[in-house]
Amino acid sequence: MMERLTAFYVVREITDWNILPMQGELLVIDGGNGAKCLFLQCPCGCGSPIMVPARGSIRTERGDHPYWDITHEVDGTWSAAPSILLTSPDGCRSHFFIRHNRIDWC
Ligand SMILES: [Zn+2]
Repeated sequence: MMERLTAFYVVREITDWNILPMQGELLVIDGGNGAKCLFLQCPCGCGSPIMVPARGSIRTERGDHPYWDITHEVDGTWSAAPSILLTSPDGCRSHFFIRHNRIDWC
């Protein structure tokens, strides 16, 4: 039985889109020109990569992908709203919030 994470162990702010997150690692990618995104492995332990693009990022302008409000909190941590729900029918269907580098399960 894989254990659900309740917080990220490592948070890295990077500008490189070609780095894959390890389990427990939150990548905050700022690609310039307003392209911003959180990138993580599903915290349920299934290992699915999850892209969380920010509102207004280039990736979302095509309108074919949901987007989130990504907040750099005053304490230096990161939050995303609304919640993240994995909808793939053969996937884990995890549902959680990212708040202050923590994972709040729904
Ligand atoms: Zn999962």
